[in-house]
Amino acid sequence: MTERKVRVRFAPSPTGPLHIGGVRTALYNYLFAKQHGGDLIFRIEDTDSNRFVEGAEEYILESFRWLGIKFDEGVTFGGNCGPYRQSERRDIYKKYVKVLLDSGKAYIAFDTPEELERKRAEVDNFQYDASTRMSMRNSLALSSEEVNNLIESGHQYVVRFLVQPGEKIVVNDIIRGVVTIDSSILDDKVLYKSADELPTYHLANIVDDHLMNISHVIRGEEWLPSAPLHVLLYRAFGWEDTMPQFAHLSLLLKPEGNGKLSKRDGDRLGFPVFPLEWHDPKSGAVSSGFRESDYLPEAVINFLALLGWNPGDDVEMMSMDDLISKFDLSKCSKAGARFDYKKMIWFNHEYILRKSDKEIAELFMPVVEGHGVKTDMCKLEKIVSLMKGRVNFVHELWDACSFYFIAPAEYDEKTVKKRWKENSARQMGELAELLDGLEDFSIENQERVVHEWIEQKGYGMGEIMNAFRLALVGEGKGPQMFDISGLIGKKETVERLQRAINVLA
Ligand code: GLU
Repeated sequence: MTERKVRVRFAPSPTGPLHIGGVRTALYNYLFAKQHGGDLIFRIEDTDSNRFVEGAEEYILESFRWLGIKFDEGVTFGGNCGPYRQSERRDIYKKYVKVLLDSGKAYIAFDTPEELERKRAEVDNFQYDASTRMSMRNSLALSSEEVNNLIESGHQYVVRFLVQPGEKIVVNDIIRGVVTIDSSILDDKVLYKSADELPTYHLANIVDDHLMNISHVIRGEEWLPSAPLHVLLYRAFGWEDTMPQFAHLSLLLKPEGNGKLSKRDGDRLGFPVFPLEWHDPKSGAVSSGFRESDYLPEAVINFLALLGWNPGDDVEMMSMDDLISKFDLSKCSKAGARFDYKKMIWFNHEYILRKSDKEIAELFMPVVEGHGVKTDMCKLEKIVSLMKGRVNFVHELWDACSFYFIAPAEYDEKTVKKRWKENSARQMGELAELLDGLEDFSIENQERVVHEWIEQKGYGMGEIMNAFRLALVGEGKGPQMFDISGLIGKKETVERLQRAINVLA
């Protein structure tokens, strides 16, 4: 048997911002497709018009552009199986609804919501199935004349799938193994509604997966309960031979405690659960996003890839290419994956370290400019190289480095008490003079001259350097002193020394 070409899809419903779990689903689809030289398709499942949210589709696309997940086909990408937006495929679905009706595998039902409600109140655990369907208002229970009359007089109806009880359904899942269930537990799901002439998720999903020649359905655990019905639908259409293989991913769990990850966990513990900031078009509420919270897309991808899968060795840092070659769908765990946001912050730190100083400086430049400071790339790269090891996020560089650009407005009280001694003013005066007289202000030369001076005068290295640091930085932290003076330059160094002498006198 020749291997089937790998074709997978990410098929979101545009009902709001993309949750981080959805991003992981898309990522796994992408990794799997690329690993097998296959295609990733972007399909929009918008048949539930009540849940449609303006702007969601564009948001989802923008999220993937930012993350570097690329599609081969689909909405905005083109391809031979379009249209890829389900709301533009009505006629296709109607044809397949008719196929099921004509072959007796589906039927028309007229029960109104009120009638269904009444039935639920009457019958414990009511389910529309073999045990109840003949007592309902549908084309199985009514004569064809009655059915035609109802349709002609404009009654709305739905089309329901006719589930034969007692059939064995086998769902073969790459992650979960083989699950066998009895069709008797299923209800006759609605496949189509005359009111909006649109199919439901189940029908549209199966028809599209078939017509788009999807080989593997990789999706979240929440869709697992639909799988038996989907298998039955493939059977009803006679498409068993090309039925995709299923892989239902594990849930993302709260960072601590039980239950699945929610936006509330993020709000409470201070991390986003959406890729990009989301502005709700109705309420105007703003939800934070990884991009705006200053996460690097590489860090988000690396972190997400390891939620529910690992390469089986100790390697944690993996580029997209590494992930593509190492990913193994069959090794994904079925147990939920805890969303360890501290690990995500760790990844961000590691990616800042691994990126070139130039790349980080380019990201940092707008932050610096936002503080009203003008500087050049060359200087910024040097500062970044000295300071990037100290931060988890690029924006944190500002607090760590602002002293390079702005003279301290005040001096940390504790440090002053500890480091500014009786002799400090005089010593710093001498140091200012010494440095001011230097032709060669290179780091090496400053270091040599200052060390000689300290030795000659018999001063303590610690007392000088501590007071010098206080004068330049305003507190007791920061990198090597001459790295600082070298970067801020002679004039600024001398001015800061003099200012400290005046203020701390
Ligand atoms: N439209 C579904 C969703 O929003 C797709 C589920 C599936 O992949 O079959 O996730």
